[in-house]
Amino acid sequence: MALEAPSTSFYSPWPDRLRHSAIVLLVAGLALAVLVAFGELSPLRATAVFACIAAAALVPWRLHNAAASREDARGVNPVETAAVSAVVAGMPDPAVLLDRAGRVIHLNAAAAQLAPALRRNELAQFALRSPEIVTALREAIATSETRRATYLDHVPVDRWMELVVTPVPVPTLFGGTDKCMLMTFHDLTPLRRVEEMRADFVANASHELRTPLAALSGFIDTLQGPAKDDAKARERFLGIMHAQATRMARLIDDLLSLSRVELSAHVRPDTLVDIVPIIRQVADGLEPLARERQVVIDIDLPETQVAIAGDREELLRLFENLIENALKYGASGGKVIVSLTSAMSGEGVPEVRVMVRDFGPGIAPEHLPRLTERFYRVDVGDSRAQGGTGLGLSLVKHIVNRHRGRLLIESVLKHGATFTACFPQAKTASGT
Ligand code: ADP
Repeated sequence: MALEAPSTSFYSPWPDRLRHSAIVLLVAGLALAVLVAFGELSPLRATAVFACIAAAALVPWRLHNAAASREDARGVNPVETAAVSAVVAGMPDPAVLLDRAGRVIHLNAAAAQLAPALRRNELAQFALRSPEIVTALREAIATSETRRATYLDHVPVDRWMELVVTPVPVPTLFGGTDKCMLMTFHDLTPLRRVEEMRADFVANASHELRTPLAALSGFIDTLQGPAKDDAKARERFLGIMHAQATRMARLIDDLLSLSRVELSAHVRPDTLVDIVPIIRQVADGLEPLARERQVVIDIDLPETQVAIAGDREELLRLFENLIENALKYGASGGKVIVSLTSAMSGEGVPEVRVMVRDFGPGIAPEHLPRLTERFYRVDVGDSRAQGGTGLGLSLVKHIVNRHRGRLLIESVLKHGATFTACFPQAKTASGT
């Protein structure tokens, strides 16, 4: 699995020239020997002629050797013209130019940072040490075709890169071109992360759907079999089935909302909406749940209009999720405060802040950074018991982001949780 031996590398084509000179000398020697043998030339003259031919044949080789040693003394490769090195250095991705033995001619700063073991004039495979990469290099040389390999870097973090080896003709000092290889690295880590997230998401969504589905089909079997004539059991089972079907419908609803918001994430809503009646409508709608949980919703909203550039349906969804969570998970506190204030962001941008605060058990600090991940729950059993899907806060975050706002989550265990959605204040005609 080794690369071509360095003796046949781009750097040492001169043994070929030497071989040519040797052939010339051999032929000349034989011809002179024949002439001497037939008495056409004296041995002395033949030797003199041979010496002249030998000198003439070896001159180019000597000349080249002198040039090569000058280059060696400077540590510069013959093909490293200013243009070539400038192109390699200017490439945004890590890039390395190799000779056809796999020795490094030039590498840019990104490549040196990625693989510090890569050194000029040293074989790349010693630095990269991957059989897959060595094979790609060897095949690229042998076939003059592009080859790809995977390069994994684990320090300081896991990085997954695609390495592309492209044969390139590079001009030499003596005219003509020589086959070199341009090795570039493309960081595929973000793509891979997205792919992993997508796979996780599909797995989670399937799992979430399968659970109520399994319950439904189990109850259907029971109702068709052992509980066929049991009216009391049928009533109870139908109630459970209804709850499971509602859960499935809610999950699908949340999934669709999430994908809709994601699709339009890059388009900021531009309709001016008054946020006050939206919050009031949500709070009023959740009053029955508040009564059921024995929680008082304390609403502190201005009497005047507060306009933001927003999507009414999405804002309804956002506040519904935040207030409903406060009622479900913070019910033990007995009170939920919903308030709206105006303030300046850290960057000096005027913001509208809607705060939903409960006085329930709160959330442990280690969970806070992950709360807006899809399907992340502090307590899966509790969330399911409350009819949760684990998608609510993820949806909230996406809606806030689409509105170019911020979501702040603060909590102290046993003292409740505060979720604040901040939106840039809309510029109205009066300039306020
Ligand atoms: P779910 O559908 O489970 O409610 P969410 O994304 O809305 O999903 O919330 C994720 C998790 O965050 C919940 O399962 C719950 O554990 C926790 N959580 C959300 N809001 C609160 C709150 N006000 N108090 C305590 N925990 C909360």
